[in-house]
Amino acid sequence: MQDAGPVAIVGAGIAGLTTALCLARQGFEAEIFEQADSLKEIGAGLQLSPNASRILIDLGLLPALEAVWSEPDSVALLDGRSLRTLASVPAGSYARKRWAAPYGVLHRTSLQKILLDAVAAEPHCRIHFGCRVESDAEAAIDRAMARPPSVIVGADGIWSRTRTSIPGAGAVQFSGNIAWRLMVQSSEATALLSEDRVTAFLGSNAHLVAYPIKEVGGFNLVAIVGGKAGGSVWVGKETEEGRRELATAFAGWHPKLRALLTSATAATYWPLCTVGDGAWHDGTRTILIGDAAHAMTPFAAQGAAMAIEDGRELALCLAESQDVPSAFARYDRARRSRIDRVRKRAAFNRFVYHARGPIRVGRDLVLALKTSESLAADLDWLYGYDAASAARLF
Ligand SMILES: Cc1cc2nc3c(=O)[nH]c(=O)nc-3n(C[C@H](O)[C@H](O)[C@H](O)COP(=O)(O)OP(=O)(O)OC[C@H]3O[C@@H](n4cnc5c(N)ncnc54)[C@H](O)[C@@H]3O)c2cc1C
Repeated sequence: MQDAGPVAIVGAGIAGLTTALCLARQGFEAEIFEQADSLKEIGAGLQLSPNASRILIDLGLLPALEAVWSEPDSVALLDGRSLRTLASVPAGSYARKRWAAPYGVLHRTSLQKILLDAVAAEPHCRIHFGCRVESDAEAAIDRAMARPPSVIVGADGIWSRTRTSIPGAGAVQFSGNIAWRLMVQSSEATALLSEDRVTAFLGSNAHLVAYPIKEVGGFNLVAIVGGKAGGSVWVGKETEEGRRELATAFAGWHPKLRALLTSATAATYWPLCTVGDGAWHDGTRTILIGDAAHAMTPFAAQGAAMAIEDGRELALCLAESQDVPSAFARYDRARRSRIDRVRKRAAFNRFVYHARGPIRVGRDLVLALKTSESLAADLDWLYGYDAASAARLF
């Protein structure tokens, strides 16, 4: 686009910060409006798959990531009752070779800080903290910026206010599951957890994922179970009743796993909501990305990865289209099928991870027949995806 004006971004989460950096690389000025006074500790751990790390590498962030993250050798699925290994997908150096980018795990705050430092060092980006955008996002942003923006990007998460400006946007729905995020010190993790792998323990109607967080010398645990909706409560602190419900959900599991859950600290409770199908943009100036557009369940650990891909593809579409409406249309075509496919994968993983009875038996048989190589090949479409080339196909 010639003579494009500045771009306003609502929200300095993973989506907003990545988008600002990608836009800056294309020569756009980006101004970010973030409601928080500063970026605080948010959530716990994060898995970054090669489709996302490839984009962060292009942004020059690999050395900063390598200083804080670990690259596990594998992602293993274990039976939550017997602790038997059901399947193992190679990662580590294999991921770097197969998908030409690393698979890393780190603290969410570390990623936010790396992105924020890069934004602060980028002359094309400005960030305003303590600026909450309310329902009439467009008018508020026009008032706040010296030059009205040519594009407003709503990267303000699942409870997006920007979404109210998009006719036909998707609605927030409770998924029926809640996630417990907990931490456990390495000394408490006994032989159950390994620093060399992401471990997913599977059981009826629940699963537990554990991976090392080098920065804190411990493991991040995510326990996903059926649960009650929490309204717009995105994150809640643990209560005695909640802890009891968590223990009940894992009652029949291996005693070592139950002991691990009991010893884990820093518990927070996340009702898992999604944003259903709907419009992502108004055709003229405002567009939604990341969780604001398509929050998904974390069964495929892809929400942040999709937010990062969104930022990359939106910047390319804006840079390489004649005008904003055609850039939005192109972005929509490029991202729709990808997001749909990833959502379906998350739903499939839920079915597989929480299987019970004969379905569980069938699952275990199928997994036993698969080699590590064929499990990895099943993920080529997901981890081998190159957002930059994909955007250019549309
Ligand atoms: C339990 C769990 C585990 C997960 N694990 C993974 C994983 O391993 N890998 C992965 O890829 N994904 C994972 N995800 C998904 C991932 O966390 C999200 O998809 C991702 O953080 C979304 O980023 P975002 O920037 O779109 O939204 P957010 O992170 O929600 O950021 C939105 C930002 O906008 C700001 N904001 C909100 N409203 C306003 C307003 N009105 N005005 C101004 N600013 C505003 C907020 O303060 C925030 O900074 C997981 C999710 C959960 C719940």
